[in-house]
Amino acid sequence: MSWKIYLLSGLFSIFFGFQALAGFTPTHFNLLKEIVEINSASENTAGSRKVREILQPHFLKLGFQEKRIPLEGGHELWVMDFPGEKVELLLIGHLDTVFPATSAFQKLQVYPDRLVGPGVIDMKGGIVLILQALEELKDKNLLKKVRIIFNDDEELGSLYSKEAIHREALGVKRGLVFEPGRPGGAWVTSQSGMYWFEMVVHGKASHAGQAPEKGVNACVDLSHKIVEVVKLMRLDRGFSISPDVIQGGTKTNIVCDTASVKVDSRYRNPQDLKALKKRIKQLAQTSFVRNESREGSTTEVNILNDLPAMTLASTRELFQEAQTVGKKMGMRVVGEHAGYGSDANHLAPTGMSLLVGLGPWGDGMHTESETLELRAYDERLEWLKEYLKVLLK
Ligand SMILES: [Zn+2]
Repeated sequence: MSWKIYLLSGLFSIFFGFQALAGFTPTHFNLLKEIVEINSASENTAGSRKVREILQPHFLKLGFQEKRIPLEGGHELWVMDFPGEKVELLLIGHLDTVFPATSAFQKLQVYPDRLVGPGVIDMKGGIVLILQALEELKDKNLLKKVRIIFNDDEELGSLYSKEAIHREALGVKRGLVFEPGRPGGAWVTSQSGMYWFEMVVHGKASHAGQAPEKGVNACVDLSHKIVEVVKLMRLDRGFSISPDVIQGGTKTNIVCDTASVKVDSRYRNPQDLKALKKRIKQLAQTSFVRNESREGSTTEVNILNDLPAMTLASTRELFQEAQTVGKKMGMRVVGEHAGYGSDANHLAPTGMSLLVGLGPWGDGMHTESETLELRAYDERLEWLKEYLKVLLK
């Protein structure tokens, strides 16, 4: 870079650096930068711990008391509230991101209208938004009705924390999840269910040249099963079936005796899941190949992830309130469906009222162009403060 360009880009970043703070106070902007630049991949529990240490004094200063619930694998569920007070609202977030410690994407980049960085919307931006909104609430008595729950394994489907989250949610009627809003700013009013499963087919090995008639080819059998199961897919109604990992056989010359597939399925309508499970069961009991002695394959099915859908019924009440608040502020509050899962999926079956996508929005979550739009932070912050006043009054 020539010195002129260097100087220009320096001036640019100074000028726009100030502008970038427009939505944030300098403290909150710096806080976001600091925690974005600490790697906290779900597997990097030390990173998540560091993020907690940085955030902790800010929340404790507001009067919250903390509880750290140790979980398997070094994970922790971080819970903050006012012990002895009746909790009326959960604020739910996660500290982990999908970016591994080895990723080149570890820094916050600042542009005139946006920030780019790992977890900047998913969901470190949402965490800082919660903090700033709570700090800026004039009536501090409202905070006593809040319980904050941050986990560090959400991107793993909250594998370790979901039971503890359920316990902390017990008896609380409402929960807000600070995943990013949809690109363009819509709130999330329903989320797909997820059903990930594995089919493992066992056949019979044999010499592929000398005695192919004695073998039961698991690779062929599995191929039929895959073709059959994807026939159920109906993208027009949000029902996807995606076989994403296939493994099988050992080498040529040996009839393939074991083959497996891992399938990612998402659905909006629980009826589709029911049909899928039924078909999987049928396929597991079917052998598409037989050898000369009529021996067939056997199939085992393993469930890898089973996350219920969050339907519109879960968000109806809180979304209505969200719209009312927006209307008063001259804002259009729009709800959309999201194909991603969140902790709201786990909580929906408890019957609690939920709303998702309250975090600042942008684009490119889970990619190296994850972007927060600065105007989104502003909008969400102003709206959230009003919304909290209404929900906690
Ligand atoms: Zn997330």
